[in-house]
Amino acid sequence: MSHRVVLATRNQHKVSELRRILASSSLDVDLVGTESFPELPDVAETGSTFAANALLKARDVAQRTGLVAIADDSGLCVDAMNGMPGILSARWAGSHGDDAANLELLLAQLADVPSKRRGAAFHCAAAVATPDGDERVVEGVLEGSLITEPRGSNGFGYDPIFTPLGYALTTAELTPEEKDAISHRGHAFRALVPVLGELLSGVTTS
Ligand code: IMP
Repeated sequence: MSHRVVLATRNQHKVSELRRILASSSLDVDLVGTESFPELPDVAETGSTFAANALLKARDVAQRTGLVAIADDSGLCVDAMNGMPGILSARWAGSHGDDAANLELLLAQLADVPSKRRGAAFHCAAAVATPDGDERVVEGVLEGSLITEPRGSNGFGYDPIFTPLGYALTTAELTPEEKDAISHRGHAFRALVPVLGELLSGVTTS
């Protein structure tokens, strides 16, 4: 029996990435994004952690749609900035989602930080919630460091200045498949599959 599950995002790349991961699992899931539910309001990310924000979104969408819902929240944590921008990554320069301004501000803030102290990590929390109130959250991390000049045109956000541990290339210079294989979101989504399977086994909606 196929289970309809909604991923609480309007980002088609995330929907495609999770679909690819689910397709290689034994779960029979029909995954849709929130573009299938245009009436859904945006959920305010008022939590103080990635996990809290992912849970807020998954819970809200599960309640409103009556379907099992998945949501993720992610960001970049910089060692020399005590883990910031963290949950504020998308709006670090002020307005939500201005990737170029966010990256420029971060580079300026780190201008005097030497390469040995430029460690950083992408974090992602992925949450799943059922309309009955069952919920779980898993996390994925990609460790690396920050360079001083942006390089590469793939990806988004802080990718042009982030080199994963053991790589000379930035995540903006990796192909989408190479990045999926090591990324924080890839790790979190793959960890979510068995958890989702467990929750779906107790759910009767399809
Ligand atoms: P969201 O969880 O997809 O909304 O991402 C929050 C913010 O974190 C984004 O706007 C980016 O600034 C940053 N971010 C999250 N994941 C990545 C990534 O894979 N590459 C670059 N930036 C990212």
